[in-house]
Amino acid sequence: MFKTRFLDLPPLATAAGTVRLPGSKSISNRVLLLAGLCAGTTVIHDLLDSDDTRVMLDALRALGCGVAMDEAVVRINGIGGALAAREADIFLGNSGTSVRSVTAALAVLATTQGGRFALHGVPRMHERPIGDLVDALRPLGCVIDYTGVDGFPPLQLGDGATHALNLDAPIRVRGDVSSQFLTGLLQAMCLVAGDRDIVIEVVGELISKPYIAITLNLLARFGVKVRNEQWARFTIPQSSRLSSPGAIPVEGDASSASYFVALGAIAADPAAPVRVEGMGSASIQGDLAFVGAAQAMGANVLLGDNWVEVSRGSWPLKAITLDCNHIPDAAMTLAVMALYAHGTTRLTNIASWRVKETDRIAAMATELRKLGATVAEGADFIEVTPPATWQPAAIHTYDDHRIAMCFSLAAFNPAGLPVRILDPQCVGKTFPDYFETLFGVVTARERGVPIITVDGPTASGKGTLASALAQRLGYHFLDSGAVYRATALAAMRSGTRADDEQRLAQLATNLDLHFPPGQILMGDQDVTETLRLEEVGALASKISAFPLVRAALRTLQLSFHRLPGLVADGRDMGTVIFPGADLKIFLTASAATRAERRYKQLISKGISANIDSLRAELEARDARDQTRAVSPLRPAADAMLLDNSALTVEASVDAVLNAWQQRRPFDAS
Ligand code: C5P
Repeated sequence: MFKTRFLDLPPLATAAGTVRLPGSKSISNRVLLLAGLCAGTTVIHDLLDSDDTRVMLDALRALGCGVAMDEAVVRINGIGGALAAREADIFLGNSGTSVRSVTAALAVLATTQGGRFALHGVPRMHERPIGDLVDALRPLGCVIDYTGVDGFPPLQLGDGATHALNLDAPIRVRGDVSSQFLTGLLQAMCLVAGDRDIVIEVVGELISKPYIAITLNLLARFGVKVRNEQWARFTIPQSSRLSSPGAIPVEGDASSASYFVALGAIAADPAAPVRVEGMGSASIQGDLAFVGAAQAMGANVLLGDNWVEVSRGSWPLKAITLDCNHIPDAAMTLAVMALYAHGTTRLTNIASWRVKETDRIAAMATELRKLGATVAEGADFIEVTPPATWQPAAIHTYDDHRIAMCFSLAAFNPAGLPVRILDPQCVGKTFPDYFETLFGVVTARERGVPIITVDGPTASGKGTLASALAQRLGYHFLDSGAVYRATALAAMRSGTRADDEQRLAQLATNLDLHFPPGQILMGDQDVTETLRLEEVGALASKISAFPLVRAALRTLQLSFHRLPGLVADGRDMGTVIFPGADLKIFLTASAATRAERRYKQLISKGISANIDSLRAELEARDARDQTRAVSPLRPAADAMLLDNSALTVEASVDAVLNAWQQRRPFDAS
């Protein structure tokens, strides 16, 4: 997951390949709650691992459910409808499904069995309405208090005493603000349907019906068959009891699929479509209907049971007018697809956008306008006309995962502009690896993937600076010295002579190096520390003078140039390996400063050292690097020189980031 302050998406060109979807958020959280409420053990396969499911799992633990996880499955030991804990403080982040469902279930359990629970979330959750649900539950006798502002979480459920519920009259709930209230009620009322039918009537037009369909489908799998009369009246039959299905799989998330379906429609050649696995025609999720909407905009679609393949059909896309009440989440993706359409796209009946993670109508309008689009918005619609001239934009994401994900599609803009996504880690709510997955199936425009090079003499602090830059920008990091050191280590281990250029080059060609974050593996052996040894560095310095060795290591170094960008450090990054780099830094520090830094580094590791001999060794290495015939150490003509003798690491990093920002088309953010 990208935890940077922003992520710059390079201008993208094409898409192709296969994406395996993370588990559906809607199904995951419903299954978790139902598994927690019923008796026995439920084994859940392919559960989504994200912020929203984590808060639900925490809530289940607080309620005394058993939770066991291993790689592939999660096992929930349910409470069997009987409170195992009487009091708990439950934090549900910004998960709407969790708050609404847990509120209903706990209000019923706390009231009838004598519990007292505090329920709260992030500040935005305390602005998301819950009054309609509370108003449905209170007439039954449920004890619920607002502990903040009336109509919104935080809440207190129960008062510690037991109270009987009055279930004679139908329960009435409004359905036109959020369908999650009805979902919460349907799940909760299964806990008390002992000696009578329980009837729930929807007041007003029910929105987002497909989400209720998911609820009903999953209740059936947990043994409760609810009668649905025209989405207006629901009956939980007498003696219904939640019972564990034993094992249950979670299908891929259809809302998350929308970004990749759109990707195919925007950028995939029909001969090499984008294939999305984990949901298809057999899916129980309403957002499957997004596929039809994408088709209406021109996508070429092939739909299987559990997969969908998409490529470009009409181009530009066709503008559409669509009632999106049934696909409120995926419809945000249509609003971004509209940037590539001929004409104006109008999405209607989306008032619920205003009470989601953020006011999504306002947020989408603001951010689409930044890109140059013309946008009209109303209480329950949005209208998007593509930009006449695309503008570079830093997209605010409002702590809303879907804004971050759908705006990534703007990187295909015909102007070839990069797109900056602020606060990219908000995708963690439902799709922590979204950007990595995206980068796995797209290609950038030629010369689109940025490179920053940091060259300089030994011990100038290049590695520290370059890896800090890579971390701040979310870019890949190439420590090119490590590939020379690894060759030297391989030579030492195989007893290869330091002057046998042919064999050294062969060793370099066959290096089996891997670079997981913060580590260097040779084969399956961790050599991170070994590579830093002085004798390895000294041999690396000698063998790096051989042209055949340098040539053998070139392809490996070039392979680091991948989306979303690269920071490479070494001696010849800006001059030989990446001469077209977007920003070149030549980092220096006086020999005295460098010797002192190396000395402190060694001492701190408990290795004895002598500062004078270290300095002599550094200077000898500088001389070798500068005078060798191939790729001698020198600044590129267009490099920015930075002497960091008197700078802290942070100051050097800031200096380079400032220089980088000036080369980017975005306003400083
Ligand atoms: O930077 P580091 O000290 O890890 O590099 C080890 C040796 O590899 C250097 O002394 C240098 O001679 C060589 N090297 C090189 N070209 C690079 C990186 C390192 O010649 N791009």
